[in-house]
Amino acid sequence: METIYWKLNKEIKEKEAASVIQEAASEIKKGNIIAFPTETVYGLGADATSTEAVSNIFQAKGRPSDNPLIVHISNKKQLRDLVASVSDKAEQIMDRFWPGPLTVIFPLKKDAKLSNKVTAGLDTVAIRMPDHPIALKLIEEANCPIAAPSANRSGKPSPTEAKHVKEDLDGRINGLIDGGATGVGIESTVIQMNEDHIYILRPGSITKSQLQDITPSVEFSYEKENSEKSPIHEQIPRSPGIKYKHYAPNGSLTIVKGENKQKVKQTIQSAIDEATERGEKTGILTFIESERDYDADLVLTYGSRSRIDETAHDLYAALRMFDKNKVTTIFAEACSEEGMGLAVMNRLMKASGNQVVQV
Ligand code: AMP
Ligand code: MG
Repeated sequence: METIYWKLNKEIKEKEAASVIQEAASEIKKGNIIAFPTETVYGLGADATSTEAVSNIFQAKGRPSDNPLIVHISNKKQLRDLVASVSDKAEQIMDRFWPGPLTVIFPLKKDAKLSNKVTAGLDTVAIRMPDHPIALKLIEEANCPIAAPSANRSGKPSPTEAKHVKEDLDGRINGLIDGGATGVGIESTVIQMNEDHIYILRPGSITKSQLQDITPSVEFSYEKENSEKSPIHEQIPRSPGIKYKHYAPNGSLTIVKGENKQKVKQTIQSAIDEATERGEKTGILTFIESERDYDADLVLTYGSRSRIDETAHDLYAALRMFDKNKVTTIFAEACSEEGMGLAVMNRLMKASGNQVVQV
């Protein structure tokens, strides 16, 4: 199929922008799949009420069918057709964090106007209101909830620029709205809650301490993935997608962690030198402050050591750049796990297949 490309930057007049959104929305209404920017990463959207449209997403991405999709809405009224109930706590959370990078898992309404492919047969549904003018206008204009996973081939790093979407999905999707680079750069925080607790199923830029403003009892649920099964453990909600390999570059990626920066540098440089001797094409992911200390075929940075927002913003573009340059061995300096750093390290760990060297 031929992918339609639209560009929406700040120079474009309001009228023109409105007609692009209209065109893209009419594609969605036809059951087609359209990639669009959100404040987290680019999403690949389809009418969430249409099984045929939603199936097209799974096919284009090569996504396993048991990995449910997040439904994107533009106003809270849309919740009525989708969810069985909204607790007081959920109301508070939506008031505080929506629109924004927070996905909330709700109990699914019995005859919800939703394809059951979206929820992968679960009795819950993941919902988010994105904080991005293009995403919000597209949902409004399409006049339906939009199911949208990240607009990448399954397993690859999520796209933070339109060109990343094109690299992965050109000719596999009906259209792409280029709205420039996304803001946050990593996917939304996913939470589920009951009367007592909020469980973080996937960490993101909305942090545990921000959620603790709503209720003190916030637990990470994904951390216990490998812990021993117990009756309590069985009751903890899980995100089905978390079991899949994700965010991975083609080359082998190893993370080096340690308090002593000199030791981290020495470890990385000597591993890279060995890889060079073996004939590998080498890459290093570090911070702006240390860029000049390394020698490899490609040295990339993900912001400053003290700016976790830059690190999140630049991570996926860097992983894709290693692929583009056919780098076969990559070593990355770990970032701080404070606040959003936890989410960045979660993605980096998955990208590496949990290959970590602690020095
Ligand atoms: P992606 O669309 O690639 O950002 O991934 C969406 C994430 O939300 C995946 O990790 C899914 O497993 C998770 N998710 C979607 N729906 C549900 C649900 N009903 N319950 C738990 N996790 C969900
Ligand atoms: Mg994804």
